[in-house]
Amino acid sequence: MVPKTAIVIGGGIAGCSTVYALAQRGIQVTLLERNDTIASEASGNPLAMLYPRLSGDDTSSQFALAGYLHSLALFKSLNLSPADFDTCGMLQLGFNQNELARIQKVATQNHPNSILKYVTQFEASTLAGIDIVHDALYFPNAAWVKPQQLCKRLTEHKSISILTSNNVDRLLKNGHAFEVYDHKNIIAKADIVIIANANDAQQLCQNLPLNTQAVRGQVSILKYAETSRQLKTIVCSDGYLSPVALKQNARHCHCLGATFSGTATLSTQHNDLQIDGKDHLTNLDKLNNISPFLHDQLQDKIVDGRVSLRCTTTDYWPLVGQLLDPVTLKAKPPRPSAATNSLPWVSGLYMNVAHGSKGFTSAPLCAELLASSICNEKLPISNEMAGLLNPNRFLLREMGLKRLAKMTATLS
Ligand SMILES: Cc1cc2nc3c(=O)[nH]c(=O)nc-3n(C[C@H](O)[C@H](O)[C@H](O)COP(=O)(O)OP(=O)(O)OC[C@H]3O[C@@H](n4cnc5c(N)ncnc54)[C@H](O)[C@@H]3O)c2cc1C
Repeated sequence: MVPKTAIVIGGGIAGCSTVYALAQRGIQVTLLERNDTIASEASGNPLAMLYPRLSGDDTSSQFALAGYLHSLALFKSLNLSPADFDTCGMLQLGFNQNELARIQKVATQNHPNSILKYVTQFEASTLAGIDIVHDALYFPNAAWVKPQQLCKRLTEHKSISILTSNNVDRLLKNGHAFEVYDHKNIIAKADIVIIANANDAQQLCQNLPLNTQAVRGQVSILKYAETSRQLKTIVCSDGYLSPVALKQNARHCHCLGATFSGTATLSTQHNDLQIDGKDHLTNLDKLNNISPFLHDQLQDKIVDGRVSLRCTTTDYWPLVGQLLDPVTLKAKPPRPSAATNSLPWVSGLYMNVAHGSKGFTSAPLCAELLASSICNEKLPISNEMAGLLNPNRFLLREMGLKRLAKMTATLS
């Protein structure tokens, strides 16, 4: 039966695209966010780039491409203003031997030119509007988006209520309904709950190993230089430089990203999110790989930055789907050949987390996957791919149930 009401915990791109997908299907949704505005943690960066990183025709590349195409179509349909979303295109540079081999391999895979094409350094220079010294893979529709405006637009719907400044502490299933509590009071009640609070998801389902890790990242904001102002596309090496798309204190700026460094802390609430000068230098090194010339022009133009925490899993796939009851599962382990519908699924409890460094391309497709499975519709991706996202996979693998780890409730 299709639920009438839902609670989504976490107001980043995963939560906002999930409430959007559910509201589109006529479900009344309450979005709970601990900060006083949505999109204020990992999804609060000034700009997010929308592009797939492909390595061949493996499942992970297929997922990246499907997510990219889904997000592009969705964001285009939202009529965001040109100041908030621009399909300016992206050049992925063959800036070293490995990257050149990767882009050459991807280019042989017969993707339509509307998705990507291989370009020489001369063609790349014309497309970028500045001198490029490497051949590149060109994605003509790749885009940047302003995450806060995107999340705001995704949640503007009469079936969506947003409750900010609400830190969810625990969930309780009472009969057929879920109750969600802060540290002492009930905040909301609904037929189903979707956990979309990234690194803090583990606290809401403590017996289910999620194997998530917080990965700190910093972007640098740079005032333009005369030549860099001509940049028309996003350019990408091991980092990325956006065209001039931001206005910071009345200054027109580029966004340069991003660093990666691990952090052991489980909860994201008490991490150090101070801007680090060394991380700006790391970003400038990435800019040097894009263009030594731009590096020289922009190295003293950093005016700001922002730090936040990605949430990633040890196998780099997000965690998306219905949850199992780990206590019941461990008390009565199933046989490896058991049918998936014989497992102890918690009816109405779902997750959409761990989007790593690509949440703007992966989370909206995962939201669509969840909403279609909740509403018994055809899934937007293959069963094999949905199985790789199984949020119970680490527990099932720990129990030696490798076949079941690749399956989801929707296959039962
Ligand atoms: C420096 C950097 C650059 C990046 N650049 C890009 C890019 O260019 N393109 C791209 O696609 N991705 C990029 N990413 C990755 C992207 O930002 C993330 O994948 C994405 O934002 C994750 O979204 P999320 O909704 O899962 O998590 P979040 O945005 O972190 O949202 C989780 C939300 O849950 C809330 N929450 C947590 N616990 C609770 C609770 N108990 N109760 C209520 N609310 C709670 C939090 O406050 C938060 O708002 C970048 C990340 C970083 C760090």
